Amino acid sequence: MRKKSLLVLVALSLPSLLAVLAASPDVGPGAQWWSYVQYLASDKLEGRGTGSEGHRVAADFVAKHFQQDGLTPAGTNGYIQPVKFYSRRIVEEQSGLDLVSAGKTEPLRLGDDAIIRAQVPPAAHLRAGLVFIGYGLSVPELKYDDLAGQDLQGKVVVYMAGGPSSIPNALRAHAQSTGERWRALHAAGAAGVISIANPRHMDIPWPRLMVLRFSPTLRLADPGLDDLAGNRLVVVFNPAQAEKLFAGSGHTFAELIDIAERGEQLPRFPLVVSLDEHAKYTQQEVTSQNIAGILPGSDPALKQEYIVLSAHVDHLGVGEPINGDRIYNGAMDNAAGVATLLDVAETLHASGTKTRRSLLFLVVTGEEAGLLGSRYYTFHPTVPLAQTVGDLNVDMFLPIFPLKQLIVHGLEESDLGSLLKEVAAKEGVEVLPDPAPERNVFIRSDQYSFIKKGIPSIFFSFGYTKGSPEEATVKQWLSNRYHAPSDDLQQPVDLAAAAKYDKIVLGLAEAMADGDQRPQWNPDSFFRRFAVTGGQ
Ligand SMILES: [Zn+2]
Repeated sequence: MRKKSLLVLVALSLPSLLAVLAASPDVGPGAQWWSYVQYLASDKLEGRGTGSEGHRVAADFVAKHFQQDGLTPAGTNGYIQPVKFYSRRIVEEQSGLDLVSAGKTEPLRLGDDAIIRAQVPPAAHLRAGLVFIGYGLSVPELKYDDLAGQDLQGKVVVYMAGGPSSIPNALRAHAQSTGERWRALHAAGAAGVISIANPRHMDIPWPRLMVLRFSPTLRLADPGLDDLAGNRLVVVFNPAQAEKLFAGSGHTFAELIDIAERGEQLPRFPLVVSLDEHAKYTQQEVTSQNIAGILPGSDPALKQEYIVLSAHVDHLGVGEPINGDRIYNGAMDNAAGVATLLDVAETLHASGTKTRRSLLFLVVTGEEAGLLGSRYYTFHPTVPLAQTVGDLNVDMFLPIFPLKQLIVHGLEESDLGSLLKEVAAKEGVEVLPDPAPERNVFIRSDQYSFIKKGIPSIFFSFGYTKGSPEEATVKQWLSNRYHAPSDDLQQPVDLAAAAKYDKIVLGLAEAMADGDQRPQWNPDSFFRRFAVTGGQ
């Protein structure tokens, strides 16, 4: 964290100034919540990187509070479930990407033009033809297939993030997940992937991605859980430099962006340039922690069923400095969400409230690396998955203005949407559908690990309507603070709004746990299939 200057303090509004200066954890709505955030996002915990000492200290803090709040340990070692990861880094000085056409070689600048990601161990040396495959999506039930008719055997495929508007939002989000996309590409014989973001929908501007590339990439050590098996190269291309890939192809990237903006299917075609790659990487095994505790239910029959309250505690740790600050504190992402879970556990404990079903408080690691802690949990559950009947996930809900509206991801997928509407209405809060479905938030946090196991899930954050000042505030937050060291304790936070949010989380958790019927997927939900097939 950079040094606090007086200038920073006077620039803050009064409520945020109070938030920054809040010392007593027992005063005012949200003060308890804020005290948890203050600890978890303090510099002492060094950004809680997966596998780091700071994360371990955070896990102990969560476990200690679970114990104080009377939760039964539900890890494999007390409250803790250890999770093993590989931590990989690309050695850029010994790696390179060249574009080759007609005997001419054009070296790409790693960082400026493209980034080799360590999600898979990159091939030591790979020469491959390139094929542009549109969005790279294959959705058999809609007879939609970007791969059809293309020879992908041994090729590195180039795709643009996104999908056509003919595919419904939730399904489009699912089809774009790493594992789903790779499954079809792998079956078609592809050797690797180059992705290009649509520059009009980038959460994180390229210069910040360039900086983030120096952080290690984490993957689950369990080979059975690797959803990129067989992939030999993962590259992210700078959209501002992407025309290089399309030279001589008869298409331009600018033209492809226009088609994507119209929501249409993109053309697919072989590229004229081919790729020559070489790479070196380092790898070490690290252990991190999920933390789990149970508040047993009161109903003799229903207590065998579990409602999960999940939130990730990991963030990006210590990384490349921005404005002299190396610690990625992750205050809103997601010390805030863990603080909400602790707040809910504390409130239930203090009031002695017991729900009919049991509540599983699950704080997970490895979310930032690709929902890995929750994925690990759902393959190594500590209570039977068949009796795990719902997940309420809390992640980066952004209490940075008064809470009047909520954006719900998966609103139309299960009866949890209408349940949330009832709970929120009691607090005078309106429930809105997702205003930015192209951001794919539905598959970007830990609820997705549960969804893929067939478990109805919900996830919601502070809402706003298009064109409102709140929308501008969120957009600004995303481009300035999201995954940057400035997501720290020196930012405007609305404590009363956070307290109201926590009340809604508690209310929904109680409603989910007390209902006669367990949460149900809607009959027409795409995601219902995982409940039928037993998940993936
Ligand atoms: Zn994040």
